[in-house]
Amino acid sequence: MTAIIKGTTGDWEMVIGLEVHAQIISQSKLMSCSPASFGAQPNENVSFVDSAFPGMLPVVNKECVRQAVRTGLALGAKINKKSVFARKNYFYADLPQGYQISQADQPTVGEGVVTIDLQDGTTKEIGIERLHIEQDAGKSIHDQHPEKSFIDLNRSGVGLMEIVSNPDIRSAEEAGAYFTKIQTIVQYIDSCDGIMARGSMRADVNVSVRRVGDKNLGTRTECKNINSVRFIKQAIMVEATRQVEILENGGVIDQETRLFDAEKGETRTMRSKEDAHDYRYFPDPDLLPVVIDDEFINECKDSLPELPDTKKERFINEFGLSSYDGAVLVANKKNASYFEKVASGVKNKKLAANWVVSELFGALKKAELDINDCPVKAQDLAELISLIEDNTISGKIAKEVFADMFKTSKKPAVIVEEKGLKQITDTGAIEGIIDTVITENPNQVAKVKENPKLIGWFVGQVMQKTAGKANPAMVNKLLAQKLK
Ligand code: ADP
Ligand code: MG
Repeated sequence: MTAIIKGTTGDWEMVIGLEVHAQIISQSKLMSCSPASFGAQPNENVSFVDSAFPGMLPVVNKECVRQAVRTGLALGAKINKKSVFARKNYFYADLPQGYQISQADQPTVGEGVVTIDLQDGTTKEIGIERLHIEQDAGKSIHDQHPEKSFIDLNRSGVGLMEIVSNPDIRSAEEAGAYFTKIQTIVQYIDSCDGIMARGSMRADVNVSVRRVGDKNLGTRTECKNINSVRFIKQAIMVEATRQVEILENGGVIDQETRLFDAEKGETRTMRSKEDAHDYRYFPDPDLLPVVIDDEFINECKDSLPELPDTKKERFINEFGLSSYDGAVLVANKKNASYFEKVASGVKNKKLAANWVVSELFGALKKAELDINDCPVKAQDLAELISLIEDNTISGKIAKEVFADMFKTSKKPAVIVEEKGLKQITDTGAIEGIIDTVITENPNQVAKVKENPKLIGWFVGQVMQKTAGKANPAMVNKLLAQKLK
């Protein structure tokens, strides 16, 4: 869905392309054998290669290439059997080499496609231009000392995948859905942990605007290193609005790199945009081209688990779930596997999906808990749903039982027993209660004869007298007979 910006002179459309940086899960860094782990003491994970001592030589970590190829395959992308590492030259304090080893015109992964899931249950395809492998930079730390900055090179040389989209994205919502989908995919296949709070995933957001109907692309700006989905969306809205305002006042957009300031809710110039030639890219003379064969690619293919889109299709076809429920359930690998465990223990899979998506996810969200710390075991939730299916308890009582399970982690059958919540399905018992209600309320009985809708009042009375345990279908049926 294209989001339109209403200007004073007409309607505008935004055009967005994302560059997503995803840190590769690997034991060691891309070109050295220091650990690529997170959370070490500053400068603990630094070798002579990472700190660019003269004469040190890089060696490509095969595992990083493998992870990039696996990710490429999961994005339905073309895998290039020959790729070349190039030097991207620039100066920065946290880049001791004076260049980043990256890939330019011969990346390991070429064109692919990602299907994004939108709020309204529809999907859209976003093209991937390429995925290339590169080194991450170190970190400059400015908040530890009033006059000094510090450099931590632990991150220097960690393997990164840069996934570049085509300018196919048309709204902040689509951009969020696209980023989230990439995150889901890399987490499914364990090529990146996707943890944004640690900087494992971040995005550069390219935005331009054009008048609705215009076929040409406008001049874009790029907001660098955005580290949350909410900020990605905010940056897009702020930047697109700024551009429309300039254009409507007869101005032009400068192609530049901008900084998104979430606190102020604005973007501002960082530097004018450098073009590829400013980086003096050239093939790194210390490294041979990376050449991979079919066997390697097939091994990568075989190592992939069921991917989210395939899983979603299966949930829809096998279990009859809606596209929306399917998308919500597969968005996180652990949620999907929890749901599958619940579904395997019950007859009505749609009911299982409802319980997991509404009740369970709702309760987890409220308690600010992750599925890993869920107090209700999948098997126990399946047992609870089975109790509804075999009429032991009503759906309404089940919600009460669930709240208890969530608090105490007790088995549903134990709670039902302890609290005496079993549904009353004994015709005689229900009839007895109905008769009492009828005798106690002669006025209402007279009224219901004229207005049959009042039967609802009687149902309420019977349910109240049984603490909600009478089987509602039976109550309705018996009342209808008796009040005829
Ligand atoms: P650079 O290295 O200059 O950042 P890249 O090719 O790595 O260039 O990435 C460019 C990104 O900008 C891509 O995601 C692309 O889809 C996007 N893009 C290109 N042109 C436009 C445009 N006119 N409007 C919005 N996004 C664009
Ligand atoms: Mg860029």
